[in-house]
Amino acid sequence: TGTSSPLSVPPKKPQPWVQVVGHAGSFHAGDYGMLLKRYTEGEQKCLQRLMEDSLRPFVPGYHGVVQRAEQDYNMMDDLLTHFNSPAIMDCKMGTRTYLEEELVKARERPQPRQDMYEKMVDVDPEAPTAEERALQAVLKTRYMQWRETLSSTTTLGFRIEGLKKADGVCNTNFKRTKSREEVMQALQDFVGCNALILKGYLRRMKDLRLVLETSIFFRTHEVVGSSLLFVHDSTGKTGVWMIDFGRTVPLPPPLTLDHRTPWIEGNREDGYLWGLDNLIDILTDMLHL
Ligand code: ATP
Ligand code: MG
Ligand code: MG
Repeated sequence: TGTSSPLSVPPKKPQPWVQVVGHAGSFHAGDYGMLLKRYTEGEQKCLQRLMEDSLRPFVPGYHGVVQRAEQDYNMMDDLLTHFNSPAIMDCKMGTRTYLEEELVKARERPQPRQDMYEKMVDVDPEAPTAEERALQAVLKTRYMQWRETLSSTTTLGFRIEGLKKADGVCNTNFKRTKSREEVMQALQDFVGCNALILKGYLRRMKDLRLVLETSIFFRTHEVVGSSLLFVHDSTGKTGVWMIDFGRTVPLPPPLTLDHRTPWIEGNREDGYLWGLDNLIDILTDMLHL
């Protein structure tokens, strides 16, 4: 009747929101299928522009800023809402995950990072140089560039950040998953060799690719550190969305990107579409195995 209070509407089966990767504590599950992510202005600008772009069906709906306990949040659709015990995978797209401006800043004001040194040593004790060892610290850009050579980011234009399978098993240990074969194995495990789900993902990714090739937003932004979120459940329902625009920045006009040309510092190219091409190729091969 339009006047009934929201509380009188029996909630659908509550679906707990699940975070696969990313900064814990940046998120709150909101009411009515909303998700709150710690506010940044850059991400807000992107989400606002995306609501006006042809990419809108491929990103979570954006609903403005809300405050919780003195903290601002961007409110967006929780993409898991219409799934039943979903399997979830986060693929970080592109051939680099730092912005050109971060590279420039880090050169101007080099800030040695102890935490990143420790992460580096955890993965490969041989990785730090003698100088870095003496400092017990590495520069952020050095850490990021090093990390990208370990995973498939540089060689395939995407990397698996983390996934949660339908049985609840989580895996975020893909830092050294690099070769096409290793990536395919992980994807195989994620889709559980289900051709229906594979086909659903492929159709959606090809639709996304067509829209990306003509989107004004995409052409005019450097898209770095952004992910594709893959979601499916046992009913065979699948979805793929673009998420995480914390490091997506507008280009100075009239500069545009094709997102496939190899990166040379200064050209701002991010390899996003090249990575999507590779991901589509791999999933297509899996279908024909
Ligand atoms: P990082 O920058 O470290 O990648 P972040 O803090 O910017 O992480 P996101 O990458 O935006 O966070 O999101 C982290 C995780 O939260 C995703 O991998 C996904 O599991 C979940 N998530 C993010 N946005 C949504 C959404 N709209 N609906 C459902 N789940 C989401
Ligand atoms: Mg992310
Ligand atoms: Mg982020």
